[in-house]
Amino acid sequence: MRLKNVPGSREAVAESEFAVTDPEDHKGHWAEEVFKNNDPIHIEIGMGKGKFITALAAANPNINYIGIEKYSSVLIRAIEKMEKDPLSNLRFIRMDAEDIETIFSEGEIGRIYLNFSDPWPKDRHAKRRLTSRRFLERFSHILKPDGTIEFKTDNRQLFDFSLEEAPEAGWKIISSTYDLHNDSELVSGNIMTEYEEKFSAMGNPICKYVITRK
Ligand code: SAM
Repeated sequence: MRLKNVPGSREAVAESEFAVTDPEDHKGHWAEEVFKNNDPIHIEIGMGKGKFITALAAANPNINYIGIEKYSSVLIRAIEKMEKDPLSNLRFIRMDAEDIETIFSEGEIGRIYLNFSDPWPKDRHAKRRLTSRRFLERFSHILKPDGTIEFKTDNRQLFDFSLEEAPEAGWKIISSTYDLHNDSELVSGNIMTEYEEKFSAMGNPICKYVITRK
């Protein structure tokens, strides 16, 4: 993603009631402390401007959602949307997903969404891909035993890498497609992300998998 620096975005994110600035403090107690309920928690990592997770949260009031994004310059756009139309079941964290285990405890999360994750095409950067075994290992610690990861991308190379990586890392593929928008089963209920809208309008097929632990 090409990022424009948005002056003041870091401060605005830090001050927003919708961004959690002390995420480590809620480890193991997110539902009760942050959402004041016992509903399941689903997260999106690399949520960008938040179109997907905001629509998902509006459609599913009985699920708590947390959007995680590394850069305040994009996260601020999601926060601006929330300020206009607040949702009690959605919060944001500005952080690098590398540290995800410092903020969620074993089995605290029911589902992880990864949408159009950065491809890191060079072999030497494979470890940085969010679908690499290194990240899957981290995700396996915070997910419930039957928890799932849903991953979408238009990048065929990244998708093929991810399809090979998951079984190697101890995950099984529940479903997958190389053309989500023409897959009558998997497309049902699909919410498009910003990147998905952009790339499918250019004619790129969208790949998707759903995985769980073996
Ligand atoms: N998910 C959105 C979509 O589909 O429209 C945005 C996709 S954009 C290509 C990838 C986003 O992931 C960027 O906003 C980037 O800053 C974020 N990101 C990449 N690596 C990350 C990491 N390790 N932790 C948190 N966010 C990350």
